[in-house]
Amino acid sequence: MTTEASHPLYVPLAPLAAPRAEEPRRRRRPPVPPAAPPVPALRLAPGRLRTGIAAGAGGVGLLWGLQARPSARLDVLFASGAHLTGLLAGYGVLVLLLLMARVPAVEHGVGADRLARRHALGGRYVLGLIAAHGVLALCGHAVHTHADLFTAAGDLLSYGAIAAATAGTALLVAVGITSARSVRRRLRHETWRAVHLGALLAAALGFVHQLAGPDIAGGLLTRWLWSLAHALVAVLLVWYRIVVPVRAALRHDLRVAEVRDEGPGVVSVLIRGRGVDHLRAEPGQFFRWRFLRRGLWATALPFSLSAPVRDDTLRITVKALGDHTRRVRRLRPGTRVLATGPFGALTAHRRTRRKVLLLAGGVGITPLRALFETLPGGPGDVTLLYRAPDAASVVLREELEAIARERRAALHFLLGPSDGSFDPLAPRALRNLVPDLAAHDVYLCGPPAMARAATASLRRAGVPAARIHSEDFDRA
Ligand SMILES: Cc1cc2nc3c(=O)[nH]c(=O)nc-3n(C[C@H](O)[C@H](O)[C@H](O)COP(=O)(O)OP(=O)(O)OC[C@H]3O[C@@H](n4cnc5c(N)ncnc54)[C@H](O)[C@@H]3O)c2cc1C
Repeated sequence: MTTEASHPLYVPLAPLAAPRAEEPRRRRRPPVPPAAPPVPALRLAPGRLRTGIAAGAGGVGLLWGLQARPSARLDVLFASGAHLTGLLAGYGVLVLLLLMARVPAVEHGVGADRLARRHALGGRYVLGLIAAHGVLALCGHAVHTHADLFTAAGDLLSYGAIAAATAGTALLVAVGITSARSVRRRLRHETWRAVHLGALLAAALGFVHQLAGPDIAGGLLTRWLWSLAHALVAVLLVWYRIVVPVRAALRHDLRVAEVRDEGPGVVSVLIRGRGVDHLRAEPGQFFRWRFLRRGLWATALPFSLSAPVRDDTLRITVKALGDHTRRVRRLRPGTRVLATGPFGALTAHRRTRRKVLLLAGGVGITPLRALFETLPGGPGDVTLLYRAPDAASVVLREELEAIARERRAALHFLLGPSDGSFDPLAPRALRNLVPDLAAHDVYLCGPPAMARAATASLRRAGVPAARIHSEDFDRA
């Protein structure tokens, strides 16, 4: 055991399966564990999504360019700028909705947390474009009518479509404010979500405004294309956020089969149904779960699968952190469950190297536990490091040790407070535990602070960013 691993604060819990990196090659390898189930046919790579979004923005710019009238007049320049920013803002709103439509190819290829981050960043750009559009349109109108800004604003608001767009803008501003980290932290998730739904109404009001504007209304083709793009996004939203979940609920008839204690404040819930295997859920993925009992039915909570799907049974492992997760412990067998998913891209599909390090912090062990069992590989190929404050906080310990023994994988528990004198996630400590660290793919899941610190250490230890695959439990 390394010096760090035998530090008083970081004593391993049990005799651990040692890393087998130096195993002689001629030894017979045990059978490779079952591979991940067949994957959905389509996965949109993050780069392709970026390119597609940029190409769409280019198309919108072209639409504007074809209609812009070259002029040195100030009111025309203002109006021209207002048209460009308005068109881009309208397109941006569509992209934001598309990112959250839960289209499987996008969810599985890009990952829910990354989509949520891009959605949040895109939201800021769109609000900026809308603000610029409003200011430019107002200035243009004021110059054109030789009026002051207040008179020009009153005049513009007398147009129905502009009043509708202004109401939509107010809704989007409310969405932006409630999504600011400092505000969102103080809000109940349900309140934040209710305000967020206002964005749909805002998009509809903006659409009315755009159809009345000169850039779109000017030509039959542009009107059709713009309407078609909106209709397509609306259909995707209704299909994947309403029809698919309802159809899955009817088809699989999921119910709680058992609730098991796993440690202080942590339970595993086994959920059984019909034809669950057809969901094609992969280890590392998560579902959004709605338990139909008092206090839980109104919200869909994201939880990862903590074991591969077996015998039409799904398993999640939940840590009681707030009002909803505390109620999960009291679920009774037979409770109906609505599950949407699977979502998430933290799957075997991301792997690029033979050697894999799974790095878990706290309840972030759940998706990594499923991957620990199923990622294909021989002795020494897979290592699991599990960071927890103390031995009592370690969950699923026995099964982790059984998996480590069975597949002769390395397993280390890194115990101790996060503000202790020794940091087991420091680059040197990580390299001591995993000597050829830079040759690994790393799957990382843990609390945001731990994930940030671990990512920085891994980068310093020579693991390229492209080989660090993480899931953020703070966003979905
Ligand atoms: C992809 C993903 C996988 C996860 N997997 C697991 C897991 O396997 N085991 C586990 O214990 N935890 C997991 N979590 C975290 C878990 O979802 C939250 O701890 C839980 O939703 C908190 O609910 P609460 O109401 O009890 O806590 P609260 O204290 O009310 O909420 C704590 C925080 O959780 C988030 N949250 C609350 N409700 C929701 C919701 N409906 N949707 C999204 N976020 C919400 C909010 O950011 C909130 O600030 C996962 C989270 C994500 C995003």
